[in-house]
Amino acid sequence: MEIRDNNDTIVAVASGVGGAIAIIRISGSSAIAICDTVIRCRSGKKLADAKGYTLHYADIVDGDGSVVDDVIVSLFRNPVSYTGEDMIELSCHASSYIQKEILNLLVNNGARVATAGEFTIRAFLAGKLDLSQAEAIADMISSTDKASHAMASNQMRGGYSMDFIDLRDKLVELISLIELELDFSEEDVEFVDRTALLNILDQIISKVDTLKSTFSLGNALKDGIAVAIVGSPNAGKSTLLNALLKDDRAMVSDIAGTTRDVIEESLILNDVRYRFLDTAGIRATDDALEQMGIQRTFSTIERAQVVVLMIDSATCILDKDHICYVKTLIDALDVHEGQQLVLVFNKLDSLTYLELKAIDTLACTLADNGYSIVSMSAKQGDGIDCLRDVLVDLVDTSKLYSGCTIVSNARHYDALNSAFTSLQIAKQSLESNISSDLLSQDLREVLHNLGLITGDITTDDILGSIFSKFCIGK
Ligand code: GDP
Repeated sequence: MEIRDNNDTIVAVASGVGGAIAIIRISGSSAIAICDTVIRCRSGKKLADAKGYTLHYADIVDGDGSVVDDVIVSLFRNPVSYTGEDMIELSCHASSYIQKEILNLLVNNGARVATAGEFTIRAFLAGKLDLSQAEAIADMISSTDKASHAMASNQMRGGYSMDFIDLRDKLVELISLIELELDFSEEDVEFVDRTALLNILDQIISKVDTLKSTFSLGNALKDGIAVAIVGSPNAGKSTLLNALLKDDRAMVSDIAGTTRDVIEESLILNDVRYRFLDTAGIRATDDALEQMGIQRTFSTIERAQVVVLMIDSATCILDKDHICYVKTLIDALDVHEGQQLVLVFNKLDSLTYLELKAIDTLACTLADNGYSIVSMSAKQGDGIDCLRDVLVDLVDTSKLYSGCTIVSNARHYDALNSAFTSLQIAKQSLESNISSDLLSQDLREVLHNLGLITGDITTDDILGSIFSKFCIGK
């Protein structure tokens, strides 16, 4: 995406589809003059004579003098507007015909239709917000729950940027101390002792490491925690999904292998969105279609943060070596480090008293081995709350509401990783007394990477790729 001419006056519908009222935004040096050609304020005044932060009841009039709609005009004068430019927001009736007519009138009178995110690019270029704040606006718009909203809100309000500004200040302090030495290198003096420098560097490394470590939580919270429900055919996966959602969204049937596609449904638990993925049952099969479904199950498992393994307790009990039966199921999943596995013993209602006792003993042994266990009858709805509690406990949201910075943006995470690598190299250089100029180069690399996050360093390519993901009108 190319960054378009900033001198144009741009226009776009800023509101979504549906509703009673739509908002059309115009921004740029000619915004007020262009609006005055098509807007007749009921007060008889021209917008050109009005102050910023004022509202006006007005008619939109086309070239023939016919009224297209009556609107409320919100007038913002530069620099106190979202974009920092003269800006007008027209609240019109939400008919798509009216919106199109007004857009056409404004374009015919000199405005240009805005590209995706162009209002926010202008806000960024005018210094109204930094790049991470601009990105948070897109996250804010797409937030679906309290957790993703809290992260986007902290980032948008600048709390997030403060952490990076602090880091940058510390880094600049360190670089200037090192470069001061460089200026006097001929005289072979050491201005600051290396232990003090190492101390500052360690503080920076620790902060970058902490920020980096928040990404897995941030990323999961932003997109919703992916929970793959897996197991053999007929273990009760679809029944569990239905019980969780309390409706009949997933297809429940007695014929093994019915859930061939991955079904996704979301549920908010304790302010966090969990995306439940009901998968095709895993078993050896010659059916090509079923094999494709099973393949998809494995790629779903790979992407999930939590894997819920449904075990049909009645089948498990038939196997003489219960532990071996369960371990074989677990091994088949290939759950990797960082993923949470929850074992669910289902269909307890179909067991005899003695069988229940045996499952209980098995569950205790597995729990002693560190497994997370839930016993349930999905069909009767028993144990569902227990599973919900286990899922809620897996996510520590305390950081979220205590104002801690949580990195949820992959671009920022990449930059932090690169910064971390350069910091490690700088630390080795410092410890082995390598010359100050090389040290300073590594630290400047760190500064560069942190600058990529806040937007102190940008290129059109970076801006283009970020803002092309925005909607038009934002
Ligand atoms: P899936 O193939 O793993 O998705 O299994 P389904 O959810 O389609 O269930 C297969 C069969 O097991 C259906 O007849 C369900 O009614 C039954 N079922 C599921 N959960 C339970 C349970 O807790 N108890 C009993 N008795 N039957 C269950």
